[in-house]
Amino acid sequence: MTVWRDLVGQEPTVETLSRAVRAEASMTHAWLFTGPPGSGRSTAARAFAAALQCPEGGCGECRECRTALDGSHADVKVVATEGLSIQVRDTRDLVQESALRPSVGRWRVIIIEDADRLTERAADALLKALEEPTPRTVWMLCAPSLEDVIITIRSRSRHVRLRTPSVHAVAELLERRDGVDAPMALHAARAAQSHIGLARRLARDEGARIRRRDVIAMATKIVGVGDAVDAAADLAQIADEESTASTAERDAAERSRLLETLGADPTARTQPPHIRSQLAALEKEQRTRATRHARDMVDRSLVDLMSVYRDALVVRLGSNVDLINPDAIDRVRSLGAVFSAEQLLRCLDAITEARERINANVPPLLALEAMALQLRVPRDLNL
Ligand SMILES: [Zn+2]
Repeated sequence: MTVWRDLVGQEPTVETLSRAVRAEASMTHAWLFTGPPGSGRSTAARAFAAALQCPEGGCGECRECRTALDGSHADVKVVATEGLSIQVRDTRDLVQESALRPSVGRWRVIIIEDADRLTERAADALLKALEEPTPRTVWMLCAPSLEDVIITIRSRSRHVRLRTPSVHAVAELLERRDGVDAPMALHAARAAQSHIGLARRLARDEGARIRRRDVIAMATKIVGVGDAVDAAADLAQIADEESTASTAERDAAERSRLLETLGADPTARTQPPHIRSQLAALEKEQRTRATRHARDMVDRSLVDLMSVYRDALVVRLGSNVDLINPDAIDRVRSLGAVFSAEQLLRCLDAITEARERINANVPPLLALEAMALQLRVPRDLNL
């Protein structure tokens, strides 16, 4: 057992990080982890933090390792934003904290999971700490790609790039770590296109599998304009359902915890002004979180939808590449039959454009409708 066990398919990264743990000369105070979503950026950062704290260099068993991995180590701080951005006030607190010596561990580690969500001012505030590093403090920033982080931060950090793990590596992890049976693990890893977190959810949650299947089925069902409008509405609704399911319970818990902290009566119909303003602030934060979450869900559905056109293109071109949706082969074949390669590429472009527009704050339904209109098939495929 080692701290690196859950970091699958990333041998070069493990090698680099273990070397830094073994030899302090190759240690740096700022690291930047990049890699596609679900490849294990934050898993890598946490494992690295654990290895740095562990007297054995990352045994995976001792108290230091366990607490660093589960996020409860006193000297390992993990910042994961739920909002759309990380604000300057949040970074200022971190910078102050980073100036302190480690309290129990060998290093003080600060992991920022979504460094791509730092606002410009927040990044500037952070920069000061990176320019004048405190001796036993290590910053670990995670982002999808180098371009997502401002250049001044990039140039002061050491870069570690994670790759997309193979489908088989992800399936093996699901079997070993989560006890998923082999055929399901393989199906989920393939359908999630090696996104580890998503694969785990598909393997364990039937609702998620059904929602994915519904999205895949859309590709062959859009014939007329009415179908396109319906498909767009369905996509938006699937995202909303998924988002509400996962946030409602948490929102309510946060609210009662806040009222408890303020010593208010949770059953009272109206609250005194100072409590109302606190509640309003919390609700605002929760709305921001819900927006981000719903947007992430739409994006995920669009990635699923793209996979059908990608498969159809593979079939159309007769490429010798594994399909992402072998279980939807009929759909894939019919799409490959009614569309030329060029048209399939155009469908993929339409989906990419919708993703970009939603990312740029265009209302999702609007972007989805424009997209769905471009995905119309020439006739009913009866699937
Ligand atoms: Zn250990």
